[in-house]
Amino acid sequence: MLLLAKLRKNCPCAVCLNERKNKPETYIPLISAAQQTIRKIEVVGSYAIKIFWGDGHGSGIYTFEKLKEGKY
Ligand SMILES: [Zn+2]
Repeated sequence: MLLLAKLRKNCPCAVCLNERKNKPETYIPLISAAQQTIRKIEVVGSYAIKIFWGDGHGSGIYTFEKLKEGKY
């Protein structure tokens, strides 16, 4: 899997977290090109970045710590 698709699939925002929670473990999401295209990145404090995706989604806050550990 491409890294950006993986990042998007594991978006840490509340909406995506909730959506994943309600799916069976075998569920494989289809991710469109726009959903895995980064439009903008904003730094959040000194601990994270906010990624704005091509489809307009942008509420996920990715911490540097988890990014470094490959946890998204
Ligand atoms: Zn999200």
